[in-house]
Amino acid sequence: MSETRHGSLSINSENIFPIIKKWLYSDHDIFLRELVSNGCDAITKRKKLNLAGVSELPENYKGKVEVTVNSKDKTITFSDNGIGMTGEEVDTYINQIAFSGAEEFLKKYQDKAGGDQIIGHFGLGFYSAFMVADEVTINTLSCTEGAAPVFWSCDGGSEFEMSEGTRTEVGTEITLYLNSESYEFCNEFRVREVLEKYCSFMPVEIFLINEDKEVKEGEAPEEPSSVSDPNPLWSKQPSECTEEEYKEFYKKVFHDYREPLFWIHLNMDYPFNLKGILYFPRINLEYESAEGVIKLYNNQVFIADNIKEVIPDFLLLLKGVIDCPDLPLNVSRSALQNDGFVKKIADYITKKVADKLSGLCKTDRENYEKYWDDISVFIKYGCMKDAKFCDKMSDYLLFKDMDHNYLTLSEYKDAQGFNDEPSKKENTDTVSEAEENSSENNEGEEYTEPSNVIYYISDENQQSQYISMFRDNGLNAVILNTAIDTSFISHLEMRNPDIRFIRIDSEITDTLKEEVSEEDKESFKQQSDKVAGIVKDALSMENLEVKVERFKNDTTSSMITYSEDQRRMEDMMKLYGMDTSSMPKEPGVLTLNANHPLVKYILEHSRSKNVPLICRHLYDLALISHRQLTPDEMAGFISRSNEIMMLLTK
Ligand code: ADP
Ligand code: MG
Repeated sequence: MSETRHGSLSINSENIFPIIKKWLYSDHDIFLRELVSNGCDAITKRKKLNLAGVSELPENYKGKVEVTVNSKDKTITFSDNGIGMTGEEVDTYINQIAFSGAEEFLKKYQDKAGGDQIIGHFGLGFYSAFMVADEVTINTLSCTEGAAPVFWSCDGGSEFEMSEGTRTEVGTEITLYLNSESYEFCNEFRVREVLEKYCSFMPVEIFLINEDKEVKEGEAPEEPSSVSDPNPLWSKQPSECTEEEYKEFYKKVFHDYREPLFWIHLNMDYPFNLKGILYFPRINLEYESAEGVIKLYNNQVFIADNIKEVIPDFLLLLKGVIDCPDLPLNVSRSALQNDGFVKKIADYITKKVADKLSGLCKTDRENYEKYWDDISVFIKYGCMKDAKFCDKMSDYLLFKDMDHNYLTLSEYKDAQGFNDEPSKKENTDTVSEAEENSSENNEGEEYTEPSNVIYYISDENQQSQYISMFRDNGLNAVILNTAIDTSFISHLEMRNPDIRFIRIDSEITDTLKEEVSEEDKESFKQQSDKVAGIVKDALSMENLEVKVERFKNDTTSSMITYSEDQRRMEDMMKLYGMDTSSMPKEPGVLTLNANHPLVKYILEHSRSKNVPLICRHLYDLALISHRQLTPDEMAGFISRSNEIMMLLTK
């Protein structure tokens, strides 16, 4: 070719209609959102023209969009009293597919009138009507002085028809003659449902009218109420909103009869526009079953629920609305262009949530403690998912102790009198990236056993025997009883190398035992070995480890413990849905209390026929206070209990 030519590609409507119909939007109901938002835009534009002094508004002007369904004619009609279109405008904006008038309008009037935003972005909005209609007509009258009304119609092929219209009021009426697969959209209830989904907060009042309903003579027609609330709570200043309004809004939007715990009102203009309200619902369940929802809006037009690019996934446990007019949406709108901007929005939201929570802990500790059981799963999950969130929250994680007091980690450490090795990961607000990286390289360093043990309770009922022993000896433990805690504990240990979590029934701490004096040691060992041997024989469990210790209390006869590591591994595997049944079961360690009369009896009457009975019963009693017995174990336990009671009668 000898010369370079420039030109624009023209789209052939015969090719594009089938694409619009089948592929452009996966949800056909989206045409309602597009046509209603065009009506809203037309009204916003008319107001802008008035502000810019280009055209005047009639007295008492109130913009509104009416959606009318007619099931006899199988039509749905959208009418607005917005800006209208001249014949030329119909040519430019409608006859050229994919030409968005919104952009051009914004450029022209950008500086003349601020305020309201125009929704339209993508020129295919209007043509989404052909997803559900065989034929579409437009009746419009422009607000331009002396404009003639225009009638336009198109049957979904490549031809359109345009002639002078009959409309006498400024505005536009668009009628869709539904195709046979889309008759649902002339049903009032179906249309209301869709309008409520997409248009509940559009910036103009929207009314749904059912033409099938006959108005009886002498009766005034029913006064419809607007489907939309043009001034949603999130668009107001936080200082203007009352607690009642926040709760009302929550109930209305999320259909949740329970009150939210508290909420965060996001409101920012710079460096991007973002408004919204995030509610902390009452969860108090294990995190698998907690389900939140974050509704995303673009200029008060609903886009979709739970868009994961914008909302960090741990925040999906919350319930909320976010309106971000600057979102880089692509044609299908619910899909986002994946760019750095979207990540910034997500980071901002995370930061705000952390600020709110830490602020609450600092200034309103009493309520923060009250909420803790409900919000802890969310916070722990967030800490594991997002390092920045974790940095911000690490000083505000609470631990509920045995007496149900709530303490931060450092408060708990102080109360336990832990020696405070400076931990690198503490107070990470100031940790720079360089430091973060260097701590990752620490793997090569020699591993030192963490010096401070935090005992924890995973089930207060099951572990009550251990708890009362702890209590009797002035020891404390924290309650970590949700499914997420298994992984959360490991996460905490990684961040705090000086502490280690051990479940209360994993070992018998030295504090619970009496010390054995030097001269006593040898004989105590002999006795212990003897008792252990007798017990092992009686139970015929060769691989069971049996220990004998002198407990400070003499009411507990026997205890069983399983190692923390082993159990954690099993818990993890269960959490990931792996089958642990084929794994060799660790029999645990049976510890007998040498100070208990029954254990003394075994030693002194090793040949008595009662000894095997006692041994087996001691083992079962230890098991019972550790876990539920299996059906077989339970049957054995019951028959043996009867046997023992029979001895009383002899
Ligand atoms: P967008 O809204 O992104 O501009 P659309 O395809 O939805 O794209 O609409 C194309 C153009 O048609 C609009 O920009 C507007 O100029 C015009 N238009 C559509 N509907 C109306 C209406 N109800 N009133 C006035 N103009 C309209
Ligand atoms: Mg549009």
